Amino acid sequence: MATQIHEATQARAVEATQQAAEEIISYDPATGAEVGRVPVNSAEEVARAVERARAAQGAWGALSYAERGRVVLRARALVLDEMDAIAELISRESGKPSTEALMMELVPTLDLMQFFARRAGRWLRPEKINIGQYGLMGRSSHIAYKPLGVVGIISPWNFPWAIPLGEVVMALMAGNAVVLKPSELTPLVGVKIGEVFRRANLPDGLLTIVTGDGATGAALVEAGADKIMFTGSVATGRRVAEAAARKLIPCVLELGGKDPMIVFEDANLEAAAQAAVWGAFANAGQACASVERCYVQERIAEQFTARVVELTGALRQDVGTREGADIGAMSSARQREIVESHVRDAVERGARVLAGGGRGGDERGSFYQPTVVDKVDHTMELMREETFGPVLPLMTFRTEDEAIERANDSPYGLTASVWTRDIRRGERVAARLEAGTVMVNEVLYTHGITQTPWGGVKLSGIGRTHGRAGLLELVSAQHIHVNRLARLHDLWWFNYTPRAAALFRGFARRFTTGSVLQTSLLVPQMLRRLSERSGNKKS
Ligand code: NAD
Repeated sequence: MATQIHEATQARAVEATQQAAEEIISYDPATGAEVGRVPVNSAEEVARAVERARAAQGAWGALSYAERGRVVLRARALVLDEMDAIAELISRESGKPSTEALMMELVPTLDLMQFFARRAGRWLRPEKINIGQYGLMGRSSHIAYKPLGVVGIISPWNFPWAIPLGEVVMALMAGNAVVLKPSELTPLVGVKIGEVFRRANLPDGLLTIVTGDGATGAALVEAGADKIMFTGSVATGRRVAEAAARKLIPCVLELGGKDPMIVFEDANLEAAAQAAVWGAFANAGQACASVERCYVQERIAEQFTARVVELTGALRQDVGTREGADIGAMSSARQREIVESHVRDAVERGARVLAGGGRGGDERGSFYQPTVVDKVDHTMELMREETFGPVLPLMTFRTEDEAIERANDSPYGLTASVWTRDIRRGERVAARLEAGTVMVNEVLYTHGITQTPWGGVKLSGIGRTHGRAGLLELVSAQHIHVNRLARLHDLWWFNYTPRAAALFRGFARRFTTGSVLQTSLLVPQMLRRLSERSGNKKS
């Protein structure tokens, strides 16, 4: 029996195809028990969802921010009422402890919901633009932020609630309709998001959850949404970007990370050690911003390593719904295999395992022990490729420059973390690190800050989610330009006489300096040109 369940767990990622491509069975990765089933939506069903979304969007986009905000706040109240049940569902589908789901998925989204429900309107107010000397000619410009239409959201399994829900709320507040395709490993959490909004009386068609695997995601890109918000691996991100490019649809890509943590010798060692352990092992290391590489200054390496190993040994690994579990199962057996292969490769090349290093928990679940490794170098997969599991590799450095060089020696650039008591040094190092977010004396958690942008550089992605930058990804900026002196025809209109050419040379020399004084020297020429043009008009 145990073996049967274990096999079921192993096969969960491909189960959809085995079920005649009609339904996905979602399994608890900690126990192998079935959590529920969802249909595999066909390309036609996805296209219909996008059509329905488009039909519903007009009326929704015409509502005020306050009216949209009321729906989001109703949904928020429902989430708050059911938070323990939702945390348990997240735990059963993803393997993470339900306590962690509460803090890392529910708390940030409850905050995000209230924030965008109340503030989106302020962030999207029409904005006047200073147009310099054109303003002196009776012109003005402003930007009006308009909904895009239909936003397609494709999300991963590692934060099955927080990632899609945050984007859904922001897209809806910006006046869009949404079609969401959750990961095939955590579809029921996605379905729950849809249910919450339905019960909050979000009008029909504005949020549809389509379930299925990569083919359903690909169908969403093909169905012609106005923008795709994709979060997932680099390989899939590339595919999504290529498909979106063929349709000339913009996309935001939130992809993988290999996030470094630098610990200088003047850091608060206890805090840094605790942070390294939480940053590497929270969510069983399956966060795009997990600490995936830790660089420790040589003089403190021994002490720091000993403390990290001690803290790691005290962690409790168990089924995520059980009280007291610090680390649950990994979300899939497939992901665990990647972790095993990275650790194996590292050990073969000389790395030393100081804690963990093998499968944990009972054999039915895809558990992997929290693992600490040292004697690593940058030839190892463990230091180059995203491991996305509970492994903390420690490497030493001597100087600040060396630490920065090592941290930047990666194709990824999502987040980075610097530990020092000298905040000026922390900020100086932060400025030189190639990452979308750098934290000084912090790790991992800033996706949870609603107001700050989230996104990477290099292979970690394109575009931003969260913060004002994230909200602006979900609107189109329409420029409205007004001329209040329409009576005075423009000097650059036809016809192009020699006098016009002389004035244009004057513009090139003086107007383009940006100096009003310089431009004022052109006034006599401008007046002559004006009278020349009004002569044209009469003739
Ligand atoms: P994945 O790329 O395998 O899948 C992500 C989603 O894309 C799933 O819903 C999947 O069904 C869908 N998909 C697969 N093929 C597709 C296609 N051809 N067209 C459209 N959609 C398709 O990623 P995953 O394994 O679910 O997630 C783990 C990855 O996500 C890690 O690399 C992690 O770093 C990354 N991630 C990044 C962030 C971030 O904010 N940067 C956050 C969380 C996770």
